[in-house]
Amino acid sequence: MNAESAPAPASSKAPRPLDVIVVGAGFGGLYAVYKFREMGLQVQGFEAGGDVGGVWYWNRYPGARVDLPSIDYSFGFSKEIEQEWTWSEYFAAQPELMAYFDFVAKRLDLRRHFRFNTRVERAAWDEERQLWVVTTAQGERFEAPYCVMATGPLSVPKDPDIPGLDRFKGELYRAARWPQTPVGYAGKRIGVLGTGSTGIQIVQEIGPQAGELFVFQRTPSFTMPMRNRRLDPDYVAEVKRHYPGLREAARNSPNGGLRPASTRAFFSVTPEERRRLLEDAWRNGGLAVLGTFSDLLLNPEANEHVAEFLRERIGEVVADPVTAEALKPRGYPVFARRPCLDSSYYETYNLPQVHLVDCISDPIVEITEKGIRTNSGEVELDMLILATGYDGLTGALLAFDVVGRDGRSVNDKWSEGARSYMGLMMEGFPNLFMTTGPNGPAALANIVRISENDVDWIATLMTHMAKNGLGAVEPALEAENAWMDIVAALAGRTLVSQAKTWYVGANVAGKPQGLSLFTGGFTKYREYCSAAIQNGFRDLVFEHEKLAVAA
Ligand code: NAP
Repeated sequence: MNAESAPAPASSKAPRPLDVIVVGAGFGGLYAVYKFREMGLQVQGFEAGGDVGGVWYWNRYPGARVDLPSIDYSFGFSKEIEQEWTWSEYFAAQPELMAYFDFVAKRLDLRRHFRFNTRVERAAWDEERQLWVVTTAQGERFEAPYCVMATGPLSVPKDPDIPGLDRFKGELYRAARWPQTPVGYAGKRIGVLGTGSTGIQIVQEIGPQAGELFVFQRTPSFTMPMRNRRLDPDYVAEVKRHYPGLREAARNSPNGGLRPASTRAFFSVTPEERRRLLEDAWRNGGLAVLGTFSDLLLNPEANEHVAEFLRERIGEVVADPVTAEALKPRGYPVFARRPCLDSSYYETYNLPQVHLVDCISDPIVEITEKGIRTNSGEVELDMLILATGYDGLTGALLAFDVVGRDGRSVNDKWSEGARSYMGLMMEGFPNLFMTTGPNGPAALANIVRISENDVDWIATLMTHMAKNGLGAVEPALEAENAWMDIVAALAGRTLVSQAKTWYVGANVAGKPQGLSLFTGGFTKYREYCSAAIQNGFRDLVFEHEKLAVAA
């Protein structure tokens, strides 16, 4: 394989052997396929969904909308895409995100490299031939020296562990597998199970349309005003003029985005000033509150002050004091669960047809044929919507059989928790790469910037290998252990691990618990990635190309 080789001559009949297999057609997969193709490599992509878009292809639930600014949540590698695409809203809704993916795929001619509706079931390393052998659900086999898992941190939906789910006779929908055909809500008794980012968006969207809406809440989330708006043409023109600088700023920020990150500690300013800063941030909307102070995820006391500020806001909107009280999150630090953004979530509870079922004081016992039974009785439903989250970070890779050196599977390797080198590679799995993988900054920084960073890093390594006649690479065990020590040391400093969330694996029974995220910020993460390149990849163990040696 030569990363700089030209495409095979048109006269050659045999298909060119593959250089890279890419799994997934979300942000990471699309950029990977583009990048490797532009390097002259032969790429084959696989995607279980019917089209490009990754998590957004599946998440067509009512009210689905990105909670990072669209300008920020978009590719930065292509000037053409940046200039020719125009976002209509500050926070784009799912249909516009799908239109964006479609635009990118067409403009860069990416679809021809993918097999859609094709689930990869197995990937196994062939030691002798230094190849990954990938098998699809249809039983087809593909081989390539490199395999890139762009499978995303949130691609395996998680059903609730409640007895009786299969008994329910009404309409049952999973937010993360929403049908493509229209769903009607008028006049129906609807239950929404789950109050994370997804549940909140669904509730505010269908609350006004439903006959009756019952929101089953176990843990309340902190949610802040999104303050979405249409983008004015002058603003868009200004952004387009300054994209290079905006991208550079995002790449050099701890959250990988344009959201300001403060260097001011909470208790370094007076109580009046703190209040003013929080109120300003609240009025600005989005995740501005998170950016007000530098130590909100480090100092529990500062965190609690901000949590109380947010709880007060709930009380100002929700008319019924019992409902307001039940909606106030307690018992975990704010921002330790992924903060949510809403447009009218709390107002929705003031509608007469919307009811909060507090599953802490009135726990769910079972799902029945007719609805949900809690301790206090049965709530009959025509429709049940599951917004119960994902087997995050590791679920996608563990869902199929990935077998590395000496027949060892990722399931074995991760039996006590995900281990990786910078979220990009694993010891024992040569030439296998992940984008936004566990122990990288996924979920804590802009996923598009991380995807681009990861693909560029992998591409640099592939080029290095091609230039040096190298056939296989994996991290040294010591290097992987050293990375895991860094991840653990940083995790010990933050409050992020102090809530029961998908970040720490708490939402999946039997899953090893622990924070599989790099909490040092995107800037630091990129520094580590750059250092690995600068030092000639000395943390990695290389093998020469076996066929080249034999020749
Ligand atoms: P989530 O944050 O994990 O929330 C799942 C919800 O389901 C929680 O409220 C959970 O309650 C509840 N639940 C699960 N099992 C339950 C049970 N047996 N009984 C009662 N309640 C149960 O999942 P999500 O809302 O899908 O969000 C996941 C991530 O996707 C977010 O953190 C975010 O990163 C991303 N996301 C982003 C956007 C966006 O960009 N706008 C939108 C949606 C999602 P407990 O907490 O008590 O377990």
